[in-house]
Amino acid sequence: MLQLFTWRVVVFFFFWLFLQVLVSNAAGIDNYEEARRKMVKAIESDVRETSLYINKKSLDPRVMSVMGRVERHKFVPSAEQSRAYANQPLPIGHGQTISQPYIVALMTDLISVDPEDKVLEIGTGSGYQTAVLAEMGAEVFSIEIIGPLASKAAKRLQESGYDRVKTRQGDGYYGWEEEAPFDAIMVTAAAGHIPPPLIRQLKPGGVMVIPVGSRFMVQQLVLVTKDGAGALTTRQILPVRFVPLTGEH
Ligand code: SAH
Repeated sequence: MLQLFTWRVVVFFFFWLFLQVLVSNAAGIDNYEEARRKMVKAIESDVRETSLYINKKSLDPRVMSVMGRVERHKFVPSAEQSRAYANQPLPIGHGQTISQPYIVALMTDLISVDPEDKVLEIGTGSGYQTAVLAEMGAEVFSIEIIGPLASKAAKRLQESGYDRVKTRQGDGYYGWEEEAPFDAIMVTAAAGHIPPPLIRQLKPGGVMVIPVGSRFMVQQLVLVTKDGAGALTTRQILPVRFVPLTGEH
């Protein structure tokens, strides 16, 4: 009798333990989903607040859906996990930052990525923006100048299933000649001028988004459009603050 009772207690205990694990796992998933939903709301609110600059009241729904999907917590250091979905830039080591989600969404919207577009990104950093571009369906090429960041991002992208993305370590000022021309180019570090090699590597009809300005002055996010005949048009979108584009150029 006593033995049967003990067995029941043991079975009940393990069943209870199993339920606890299930519940906490489900809660974990929900927490991130909920956090992403809040992040998307914060982006929407920033878009409305800056609508006079960016000339629209909402971004491409495809971009917003990708922002609600990509797991930003996988791209931020463990010390920053609790802030992974805050609408703010975060440190990623080596004096660099992962951009604010609103800026990531805006820049992705500005280059209007279509599936199968060939996109060059300069400044892989954490790899988060790279993942966003890959989720848009683009064929992404990304260059990072800091060795350890480049290898960490490459590994992280691979592990997260973004295996079509190609990354390399180097000075993005010179672009990726062997893979040019590109439908779109995104530079995520501020340059003193628009690098001529990047302009050359842009397809006719292509677009480039790049923060232009120096470290201690206001930088402007600039949209560069190359028309079918190769003529360039530039448009200043809004003031921003990015880490500088470094290198020997
Ligand atoms: N897109 C990144 C943002 C990283 S911050 C993200 O989502 O996390 C900008 C990155 O540009 C930094 O990692 C910096 O090391 C890199 N960078 C600076 N100058 C560069 C250059 N000349 N070529 C390639 N990468 C550069």
